[in-house]
Amino acid sequence: MSPFVKDNPISLLHPLEIFYWGGILGIRALGWFLPMTEDEVNHLNLFTGAAALFTLALFHWFIPRYGRRPWLNWLGANGAIFLLASVTPILERYEIHSEIIYMGVVASMGVLGGRHPARIAAVVAASTEVVSRILVDSVLGLNYPALMINTALILGVGFVVSELGNAIYIAANEQERKNRHLSLLLKVGMLASQPQPLEETLSQIAEIIARDVPVTVCRILLTDAQEQNLITYGVYPLRPFQDAAISLDSSFSLNDLPEVQRILSKGEHRLLTREEVAQFAVDSNRASFYFGGMNQICIFPLITRQKRLGVIVVGEARRIEREPYTQAKIDLVSALAAHISQMIHNSLLFEEAQRQARRMAMLNEVARAVGSTIEMDDLLELIYQQLSAAIPCDSYFVGLYDPEKDAHDVRVLVDEGVRFPPTLVPMGNSLASWVMKNRRPLLVRHLSLEGDRLLVQPMQVGQDRMSESWLGAPIMAGERYLGLLALASYTPNMFSEDDQSLLVSMASQVALALDNAQQHAQVKEQARRDSLTGAYNHGYFLALLARSLEECRAQNAPLSLIMLDVDYFKNYNDLYGHLVGDEALRLLSQAIFSSLPNNAFIGRWGGEEFAIGLPGASAEMAKELAQRIQASLAQAEIKIKNGDRLTNPTVSQGIAVFPFHADRADELVDSADQALYTAKAGGRNQIALAS
Ligand code: GH3
Ligand code: MG
Ligand code: MG
Repeated sequence: MSPFVKDNPISLLHPLEIFYWGGILGIRALGWFLPMTEDEVNHLNLFTGAAALFTLALFHWFIPRYGRRPWLNWLGANGAIFLLASVTPILERYEIHSEIIYMGVVASMGVLGGRHPARIAAVVAASTEVVSRILVDSVLGLNYPALMINTALILGVGFVVSELGNAIYIAANEQERKNRHLSLLLKVGMLASQPQPLEETLSQIAEIIARDVPVTVCRILLTDAQEQNLITYGVYPLRPFQDAAISLDSSFSLNDLPEVQRILSKGEHRLLTREEVAQFAVDSNRASFYFGGMNQICIFPLITRQKRLGVIVVGEARRIEREPYTQAKIDLVSALAAHISQMIHNSLLFEEAQRQARRMAMLNEVARAVGSTIEMDDLLELIYQQLSAAIPCDSYFVGLYDPEKDAHDVRVLVDEGVRFPPTLVPMGNSLASWVMKNRRPLLVRHLSLEGDRLLVQPMQVGQDRMSESWLGAPIMAGERYLGLLALASYTPNMFSEDDQSLLVSMASQVALALDNAQQHAQVKEQARRDSLTGAYNHGYFLALLARSLEECRAQNAPLSLIMLDVDYFKNYNDLYGHLVGDEALRLLSQAIFSSLPNNAFIGRWGGEEFAIGLPGASAEMAKELAQRIQASLAQAEIKIKNGDRLTNPTVSQGIAVFPFHADRADELVDSADQALYTAKAGGRNQIALAS
């Protein structure tokens, strides 16, 4: 069958209709010019009415309703011939030969339907002529040789005329097809130049292809950044077709579709029959890629010289004989595919340029923001703000490396919008420790699949769930590892190389500021401490005591203060000199500190006098601790540099407890001082509780 059955040129319908009306009017007009009887005129009127009704029905009801169908060609041609046959006996009487009119109908058939229906119309015309002759002339006696010659003439001329009509038909079709294809390309080109997201453009193009090529379904899929998956960008129609659920966000792993990979690497389209599709569509996901229930599928690659961009998949549900993938259709979609590839390529380039510009602006902003503070806590908060604005995801970590404890001090930990208190995460074999040990960024796309390869044992921090995507970058100040920035998501494949390079850039922007903040914090801390013993100085201790006391007040908890003074220390100095005295004081203070709990804070009050704050400790607990200090001092080995062991000094201690002995920090100090005095007065080497 001719591939152009469906592609019948609509533009030829109009002249054809005029031809029909002209014929009807012409025949009716004969009645006015020829001396016809009343019966003959009535006959002509009947013909005119029937032919007018037939023409109206054909051009204004059947064709608009059913389109250009082969059966309409038969109806049009043969109906016209039969109607004409009803008036030929009258016309013959006035020497008007109906053969000429028949030839006109045969030619119109050729123009409308091509060679095949025109030839059949010629045969029908000849047969009708024979039958009407036999019916009309049998009364007068038939001239058989004349009838045979006449019939042969109709057939012969009919075949020539059908060829002529066919030639016009093909030329017009070709022109029409070219016009249609050109306008399709233009439409797609206009869409491509519109400033809208790629998804929108591609779903509109899918609709244009499905409607105008036409095909039953069309899906446009693009590869992701890693060229691992095909993601649906446009599909038409969106309603489910037979057993294939079509949705816009369906994505397919290229690994599951080796035949599509082949199409992409060859760069040529491939036509698949129903049987071939059945071979490939082995599971529901693949069946939905191939739209179950299609008779033919054609896959067109979208590629540029450098990149496999995606594919266009079109499916035809109608029977192949009725709606074949003609070369013309395939050429058209191929041309569109080339066009779309270029468009996608340009749009990706544009997006990349925009992304770069956004990244530069963002890094600038990071540099500006982090440069504005040297206070560690403010800085960490700023880093988190910048990070969450740059890469949206589920969890954020900013960890500072603590070399003494060999652990990450995770100062910012926000997981699913919930802030967690700072925690010390030991090195272990975690993802963060991988970054620390390798001094390199780490991108994990799918932790449950990749964990073994990395030889890590991921550690759970934050929410009680394991992340699937993880991205971390070290913060390096030269060779020094300061800590890491890390992001995580509970969904796999959330981060790309792009995100990684952005995070690395951010980490390097942050490094200098973090180094400064750390040094600033160190200087500040040093200024608070006494250089000999490491205890807080008088001023800072008092401030700390006041703050701690308010916290305890808020929590309804006690706070104990121990004042401690070494007994007869003057004698030490007199005996060994001041330098040895200093050394002894250092060793003594170490022995005292080591027997205290973590939350205790110590201040050097005066020469050899110390104050110890114990948040949460009751009088009993403070007394117990004071005894522990006593005991550990008794056991300590006070060995000075030259190896001599000194005799262990004793200490006197006074204890006061908030809120029992005092309500304010300075009152508490006074009470503890008085208790210390009591202990001294009581003979030293003893513990006294304030009264
Ligand atoms: P006690 O407290 O038992 O009454 O007798 P003490 O001899 O310890 O008397 P006091 O507490 O008044 O002692 C102050 C002495 O401690 C004075 C000084 O010789 C010594 N001292 C104070 N600060 C330092 C210091 O920083 N280094 C050294 N080597 N000695 C110090
Ligand atoms: Mg003393
Ligand atoms: Mg003293």
